[in-house]
Amino acid sequence: MQYVVKKMAKIHCAKGPKGCKKCQEYVKEIRYALLDTNPQENELAARPMIELEIASGEKIWVTFDIIAYFDTLDAVKEYAVKKGIEIEQIIEE
Ligand SMILES: [Zn+2]
Repeated sequence: MQYVVKKMAKIHCAKGPKGCKKCQEYVKEIRYALLDTNPQENELAARPMIELEIASGEKIWVTFDIIAYFDTLDAVKEYAVKKGIEIEQIIEE
């Protein structure tokens, strides 16, 4: 399991802002999202994807689940420590 923190707009569903009103609202809210980039397979779920740079410098696309959103990076780190989660990558854009 790999945990990644990404500064990003909240995601409502896979349709995105062009196809969904809720997504349009969510896009305005930028948060730090704690992501699980190795979610359990679920054939029915349409998951969003992000591009990750792995150790070799290669870029790969992975599906992810959002564990939670946070207002600050410190809040994410605090949560990770509490839950025993090791954050492997922090992506700020
Ligand atoms: Zn939506």
